[in-house]
Amino acid sequence: MAELVIKSPATGAEVGRAPILSPAEVDAAVARARVASGPWGAMTFAQRSEALSDFRRALANAADELAELLSAENGKPLAESYVELIATLSHVGHAATRAEKALAPRKVSPGILANFRATISYAPLGVIGVIGPWNYPVQTPVGSIAYALAAGNAVVWKPSELTPLIAVRIAEIAAATLPVRDTLQVVTGAGETGAALARAAVDKIAFTGSAATGKRVMMAAAERLTPVLLELGGKDPMIVTDDADLEKAAEACVFGGLTNNGQACVSIERVYVAAAVHDKFVDELAKQVRELKPGAAGNDSADFGAMTSPGQVKIVRDHLEDAIAKGAKVIVGGPSEIEGNYIKPTILTNVDHTMKIMVEETFGPVIPVAKVNSLDEAVRLANDSKFGLGSSVFAGSQARAIADRIRAGMTSVNSVMGFAGIPSLPFGGVGDSGFGRIHGDEGLREFSRVKSTAEQTMSLPINMMTFRQPKNAVQRLKGMIHQVYGDGTVARVQDLVRKWL
Ligand code: NDP
Repeated sequence: MAELVIKSPATGAEVGRAPILSPAEVDAAVARARVASGPWGAMTFAQRSEALSDFRRALANAADELAELLSAENGKPLAESYVELIATLSHVGHAATRAEKALAPRKVSPGILANFRATISYAPLGVIGVIGPWNYPVQTPVGSIAYALAAGNAVVWKPSELTPLIAVRIAEIAAATLPVRDTLQVVTGAGETGAALARAAVDKIAFTGSAATGKRVMMAAAERLTPVLLELGGKDPMIVTDDADLEKAAEACVFGGLTNNGQACVSIERVYVAAAVHDKFVDELAKQVRELKPGAAGNDSADFGAMTSPGQVKIVRDHLEDAIAKGAKVIVGGPSEIEGNYIKPTILTNVDHTMKIMVEETFGPVIPVAKVNSLDEAVRLANDSKFGLGSSVFAGSQARAIADRIRAGMTSVNSVMGFAGIPSLPFGGVGDSGFGRIHGDEGLREFSRVKSTAEQTMSLPINMMTFRQPKNAVQRLKGMIHQVYGDGTVARVQDLVRKWL
């Protein structure tokens, strides 16, 4: 059987192997998930919440083993693996406890049909296909999986070919704890296995990865009109105004730009700093970046590890060389400091939007800093992007107002990435960052079939939904328009009430 050989990005040593499943095997997993979705979807919220809490406890009890495996496959320092696991556990817990409330049937106003009871209810979709990335190989897919399961769906998960082993282990833990067999299955393989899942008879695909592959997934899913949720990365801007706390802004910027080696869809990928404080900010940034320590994956005290994929190292080098050729200045790091899969964290200044480093997703440990002459210029440049995922603002009293001007799915104010750590906040972007939302109530509803029910509770003298109208129907309907929407008494009373409220 064809198999993937997974090598440590830090040492090149083999970490393990995983089978490459064929399209027929993917279809078989989806068929098993369809069977599982019956009893799993029929459980009460309380029963599913209990089962997911058991799953979470089992994951927590296996944390040491999972963190080691995550670091071995992905190359990140152990501390970052634990942070990823904590975020993952918080999603499982939130989805498990929140589903019943978020997905409870809701009564809504029947509007003009006052004799109706109008209700929105939510049912499981059935089977969800989740295609995950290698950068956060647990947190990102589980950010969909937990919500899909809590909403009553079965899940088939295709992990990246670079990081399949952690997914296999998590599916084993799910199999040992969840009461319905095949509720969560993993199908390992490369791109073709993912493509097979996108073509399979699933009810929704949740994909995280590049915009190019996202388009391919959407085209494959179109064959069956399978809906897709796309989380496609970003080019997150950070704005620093002249009244910001510069030390705090620099500290947050170092973390937001360099955590996980900058391989995060919500990494700070470009910074716009007010001219008056630009040099001071860059000095502070450089001081803090020089303090960071490299280290092998399992090293407890390392601040950054190896890049996960050699292909990504090439992209980072290309973006750096392009920027330098166009006039960017290296403050720390730079292309000469790349060794194998290790890239020294890099700060650039003198950057502009003719450079790839300011417009394309770099996905590496690079912080390019641009000087801006006004707040309007900062906002204009922040919004000058095909992406629109996360963003960040460091400012004084105007911070919230600036945040509202940024075209992005999420903004952190006087902080970075906070929106990703709060499970009740929906997560997703606009433009080339994709569409749909994971996490929060929106995430639970993404994996639900929305049902609208209109129940007639009594008869009224005017009934618009029958051909059996009285002779003066036109007169009555005209009167109704005048009364309700025109200058009639009902409309005037409604206006008064609206103004009053
Ligand atoms: P991809 O988009 O190619 O991979 C993401 C997932 O899709 C992986 O599981 C991959 O499997 C799978 N896949 C690949 N081809 C297909 C296909 N035809 N149909 C269905 N699924 C498929 O990302 P890359 O790993 O190539 O990274 C490229 C760029 O994407 C990065 O430079 C970065 O900019 C961005 N990215 C963004 C992420 C985010 O968090 N938004 C995460 C990762 C990357 P396999 O790995 O086995 O090929």
